[in-house]
Amino acid sequence: MRIIADLHIHSKYARATSKALDLENLEKYARIKGVNLLGTGDFTHPKWIEEIKANLSEDGTGILKSKNSFPFVLQTEIALVYTQGGKGRRIHYLLYAPSLEVVKQINEFLLSKGRVDYDGRPIFGFSSIELVEKMHALSSEIEVIPAHAWTPWFGIFGSESGFDSLKECFQEKVKLIHSIETGMSSDPEMNWRISELDNITLTSNSDLHSFWPWRMGREANVFEMKELSYKNILAAIRERKGFTETIEVDPGYGKYHFDGHRNCKVSMSPAESGKVNKICPACRREMTIGVLNRVEQLADRKEGFTPAGAIPFKRLMPLSELIVALNGGTLYSKKNWAAYNPILEKFGNEFNALLNASEEELAKVADEKLAAAIIANREGKIEVKPGYDGVYGEPALGKVAEEKKEEIKVKQQKGLGEFF
Ligand SMILES: [Zn+2]
Ligand SMILES: [Zn+2]
Repeated sequence: MRIIADLHIHSKYARATSKALDLENLEKYARIKGVNLLGTGDFTHPKWIEEIKANLSEDGTGILKSKNSFPFVLQTEIALVYTQGGKGRRIHYLLYAPSLEVVKQINEFLLSKGRVDYDGRPIFGFSSIELVEKMHALSSEIEVIPAHAWTPWFGIFGSESGFDSLKECFQEKVKLIHSIETGMSSDPEMNWRISELDNITLTSNSDLHSFWPWRMGREANVFEMKELSYKNILAAIRERKGFTETIEVDPGYGKYHFDGHRNCKVSMSPAESGKVNKICPACRREMTIGVLNRVEQLADRKEGFTPAGAIPFKRLMPLSELIVALNGGTLYSKKNWAAYNPILEKFGNEFNALLNASEEELAKVADEKLAAAIIANREGKIEVKPGYDGVYGEPALGKVAEEKKEEIKVKQQKGLGEFF
């Protein structure tokens, strides 16, 4: 069976999420999106784990099921803030567990290190080395994965508080790391330029803070397995067994692709920011160095290299982003849903429409431009205006793209310091 898995999510108990982000809505929108395996998110949170226990049940496969048999993997995210090698480090990790019993042990350990009840993603002061050592001692089936590995502040390779290599971070415990999450602002191709990652499985998830279909599954892992079990998920992550491909947004869509300053509305490619010594022309302080630049710094290979055994990937923007780029309005607007719903009704879920529907079939429920955009999206042909310093990138399509270019030109002429 084919599994589209989004294995990094959050619950209503994480900061900056809505009260409606519960298991019921997660399942509902997963079915709409076409995601058929979700992480539970936030299993460290005392109230969320109670909801997990009340609504999902174990059946010996290591995958928990809702009453309608929707599958979830026990997953959480924690932040570690500590000093190593004289430098402050801030790194987010994903943890996966094979059972509620193991979750209990993880939570007991974390409680001995600090509080877990104020956020779905609690912060601790111990090191990455201690984390992997301790998790391995609790159960060899716990998987620890550096989350959104390249983001400037909380990624393991982040420009602001990360490391230059996995080896530097984990030292002799590096063998316990099998995977990194590439995050939205980098794609596998960028990661293939770092030879240290050749034996590391590149995973992709949404890191959703809301269940909307433009968040959930915007990045995902595609597995092909006979039986859905935690063991098979581990085999996919650790040995790439049954790991068919990842679904990726254009890395420009991520919030940290380019260098820049959000408040100064300054965005630059690494080449442009190199010319100004990374100094923001608006405020004269150093810009936030994005993922593209950071990859360039750490890469020991030229662009375009594909390592042996690399998992292929597809580039795919969420349907709602295409609709908004064509029609204007916001992702939350009635206009978006009015174009989205007929497509959903006809094709059952968004991924089916994005990946499989023919242009003729699409044209029955979508206008010509949208049908063409869905096909272009499938072929990886949607251009994106890159994100920077916490600002999402935007797909550039047709008329809307022209209007944006015009707007940018005007700003540049007025000397508002926006560079592209
Ligand atoms: Zn997260
Ligand atoms: Zn600035």
